[in-house]
Amino acid sequence: MSTYNHRQTEAILLVRRHLAGLSGNEVSRLKQSMAPYLGFRDEVSSFQAETLAGVCTVRCFHDRTSACCGREGIFTFFADVVMNVLLSTGEQSDRILETLEEDTGGPDCVYLGDTGCLWRLKPIICEMFLCGHARESVLEKNEPLAKRWEGLRRREKLFTLPDRPVLFDDLESFFLEAGMESPLMYFHRSPGLLRLKAKHGVGRK
Ligand code: SF4
Ligand code: SF4
Repeated sequence: MSTYNHRQTEAILLVRRHLAGLSGNEVSRLKQSMAPYLGFRDEVSSFQAETLAGVCTVRCFHDRTSACCGREGIFTFFADVVMNVLLSTGEQSDRILETLEEDTGGPDCVYLGDTGCLWRLKPIICEMFLCGHARESVLEKNEPLAKRWEGLRRREKLFTLPDRPVLFDDLESFFLEAGMESPLMYFHRSPGLLRLKAKHGVGRK
């Protein structure tokens, strides 16, 4: 198994194990903390379905020139994993684990199945990625749409940019404080993110 697949597998197993030991109230509190983010994700999905689906279908499904979903092309945050496990059934998480285990390589992301991404809630980096072609053919020709997209990008930062307390950092902290560690905990490992948090006094007790 590749290092990438191994790290993904470990993070999923760790999250599943810890969640299984929590009370119903604790799991409910975690789910409640995700609610504003899920609302935001619904809006991004609607925007993409309205504006980008046509371009993406022609470019990537018909012409097969995708810049999305290349092998190990994205990194997943630990919070992405937590939320996906919380939203997935046991069978859906098992399928992801089997896919990581049975992976034999190739040019595509390990999570790309026959009917699309195996994640229930795909990683935020994937969700907010737009290739140059999509930007040029949709956003650069339509100022109102470009402004809507910029608005969504600004809102994304309210969950992921730790110049203030944000959900992605909080979810990592919750697991770290319970004694867990993962290389996917970038909000507690990435020098750039740690510097940003220190500059804004985030995470200091
Ligand atoms: S964003 Fe670009 S690369 Fe990704 S699916 Fe759409 S057209 Fe294809
Ligand atoms: S995780 Fe899903 S959306 Fe992201 S690159 Fe892989 S298959 Fe594509």
